[in-house]
Amino acid sequence: MKKKFFNAKIYRNDSATEIIVENGKITHIGTNLPKCDEEIDLNGKLVLPPYVDPHLHLDYVYTLSELGKEGAGSGTLFEAIELWPQFKKTLTVDSVKRLAMKGIHDEVSQGVQHIRTHIDVTDPNFTALKAMLEMKEDLKDIVDIQIVAFPQEGMYMYKGGRDLVEEALIMGADVVGGIPHYEPAREFGEKSVHDTVELALKYDKLIDVHCDETDDPHSRFLELLNALVFMEDYGSKTTASHTCSFGSADDSYAFRMMDIFKKSNINFISCPTENVYLQGRQDTYPKRRGLTRVKEFIESGINVAFAQDSINDPWYPMGNGNMMNILDNGIHLAQIMSKKDVETNFDLITYNGARCLNIQDTYGLEVGKAANFIVLNETSVYEAIRRRVDVLASVRNGEFLFRRKEMAYDIPLNL
Ligand SMILES: [Zn+2]
Repeated sequence: MKKKFFNAKIYRNDSATEIIVENGKITHIGTNLPKCDEEIDLNGKLVLPPYVDPHLHLDYVYTLSELGKEGAGSGTLFEAIELWPQFKKTLTVDSVKRLAMKGIHDEVSQGVQHIRTHIDVTDPNFTALKAMLEMKEDLKDIVDIQIVAFPQEGMYMYKGGRDLVEEALIMGADVVGGIPHYEPAREFGEKSVHDTVELALKYDKLIDVHCDETDDPHSRFLELLNALVFMEDYGSKTTASHTCSFGSADDSYAFRMMDIFKKSNINFISCPTENVYLQGRQDTYPKRRGLTRVKEFIESGINVAFAQDSINDPWYPMGNGNMMNILDNGIHLAQIMSKKDVETNFDLITYNGARCLNIQDTYGLEVGKAANFIVLNETSVYEAIRRRVDVLASVRNGEFLFRRKEMAYDIPLNL
C-alpha cells in the first residue's frame, strides 16, 4: 500500500512538500506527487530525520533515584565514578532493563530513533551488557541502539580491565570505548588509547572514547587517538566524546590540532548540559564551561554532534531525553546563533550524530532510505529552535510510533 505524507516543510529541502512511502521505504520526495491509497496531512509542519542521541548511558539512567538521592552530593565527575561501583554490584539483567526502558521511553517519546549507549563492561558478569544486547534486538523496530564497550573504571586501574573490553566486543558490542584521562598514569592512559584502536581494527568495530573529560589542559589523549586513527585511515569510524580539556587548550596548540582533525575525519560529541554542570568545579572565577571547541569545529568543517549523556544518574541529576533541550543549551554555550548557524543547528542533533554512528548511508530523508522522520510543532527552523517546540509525531518505516495533538487551552488567554 502506498502512503503519502503531504503539506510538509522538509528540513534542508526547499523544493519538496510530499513524501511517498511504500513497504516502509521512501519512494518519492517532491511536489504534486501521484495520488496514494492513504494521504496524511502534516499541516505545513517541519519534518526532520529522527533525532540522534549519540552518547547516552542507558545502564545508568534513573539510578540516582534508585540510590535514594535527588541531588548528586558534591556533583563532581570523580565523586560519581566512586559512587558507581557500590551500586553496580546490585544490578540484575531485569533491573537494568527496567530502568533502561524508562530512559529509552523518554528519548523515543521525544523523537529520538537512534541511540548510541555506553555500557559499563568493567563487570566480569557483564550484567548490563547482556541486558542491553537483548533490548537492542527486542526494540529494533522502534529504535536503533548501538552499544559501546565502555570501561567505566578504566582498563588499567586494576588487572584485567582491557580484557573485559575485548570480551564485550566478542559478545556483540558494536563500538570500543575508553576513558584514558581516568587511568592512573599518563602512560596507562596512552596504553589504553593504543588498545582501543587495536581492538577496533582487530574486530572491525567503531571507536568512541570518553576523551579528556577534564579541564586539565595537559590531558591530551585526543592528540594520540587522532594520530592513531589518522594513520589507520579510521577517523570517520572514530568519535572523541567530551574533549573538555580541548576547550582549555592553548590556541596555537588547538589550531595545529584542528588541522589534523580535519585530515583524519575524526568525529566529536559534546554533551553541553552534562559538561557545563560537571566541569569548572575546581575553578573559582571565571569558571570554564566544560565545552570543547564546538563553534570552531563547525567553522572548520569538523563533524560535531550534541548528546544527552545522562538522565538522573550519579553524574548528572537532571536530563529527560529531550534533544531540543540539549540543542538549546548547546547553542547558547557554544555561541552559535547567527542566521547561518541557525539554518544548520538541527544538524547537531540529527545528521552530525548519524555520522558519529556511521549510519549516514541509511539515515536521512532520501528516496530509497527507510521512511523514518519526525514532525515538529512549527513551520520554520528558526521558530522551531527559538520556541523549543515539541515533536508532534515520530514515523518509523512509514508508520507512526506516536502522533499527538498540539496543546489546547481549556480557557484561552484573552490578550
Ligand atoms: Zn559519557
